[in-house]
Amino acid sequence: MSGIDRRARVRDADGRPWAVRVHGTPVEQGDAPLAGLRFELAEGDLLGELRGTGRYLAPDRVTLLPPVMPGKIVGIGSNYRAHAAELGRALPTVPKMFLKPSSAVVGPGAPIELPPGTERVDHEAELALVVGRTLQRVSPAEALDGLAGVTCLCDVTARDLQQLDGVFARAKGFDSFCPLGPWLVRGLDPRDLAVRLHLQRGGAWSTVQDGRSSDMVFGPAELLSFVSGVMTLYPGDVIATGTPAGVGPLVAGDRVQVFVEGVGLLDNPVRNRVDRPEST
Ligand code: ZN
Repeated sequence: MSGIDRRARVRDADGRPWAVRVHGTPVEQGDAPLAGLRFELAEGDLLGELRGTGRYLAPDRVTLLPPVMPGKIVGIGSNYRAHAAELGRALPTVPKMFLKPSSAVVGPGAPIELPPGTERVDHEAELALVVGRTLQRVSPAEALDGLAGVTCLCDVTARDLQQLDGVFARAKGFDSFCPLGPWLVRGLDPRDLAVRLHLQRGGAWSTVQDGRSSDMVFGPAELLSFVSGVMTLYPGDVIATGTPAGVGPLVAGDRVQVFVEGVGLLDNPVRNRVDRPEST
């Protein structure tokens, strides 16, 4: 046994929510991110003790929900060396924190909606740390013990508004700008995992971001420690740990998949918000 376990929140065909344990090996890329997986109904605490019941939901009758609804999402800017370079930024000497609102969270399969008033909305593939217990001023040495697990996150960013505003709340805060999931994975060491973004445009897939969490300027333990020294972290809170190089614009009709090694694929389509002019 590898000691890795995956758990998700889902809605069944009748609209009822369930916690499930996810069995099988997630695919790393392609049109069918749930291929070969089985969903076992579970009881207990998604962030803690969760027991399978031996009863399964048919995969084609399952809609995945965000694995947690975080009270807050703490983002970290310029935390991969190559990404800081592509934005022309110096490497940070302390973690550069910002907040994304929980209202931006959407689950796997939900559309990323491009709003009016922005000409450039970028994808940022990220490893998300999900907090498992209350953390206040923890040391790096004890920080990882407070982790419930990890998942994938897309830190969608209106790059033009980020530059125009100088602060990030609007650029990173639109509804649907925080796809999260597809499930919470426990037992995975977050310190050296592949983080990728696959983009499907015009029917063809390409891998446009491809990094490793070991290239972070500040690693997972340092981030949990640093953030918890500023604000108390509660169970379900999320830290978006920064993005590797290769960020780029999204257009309506795209399909994006954030891949984190050992987790699987967070798969979301991109469309224009209904009030966005067709010409942009
Ligand atoms: Zn980011």
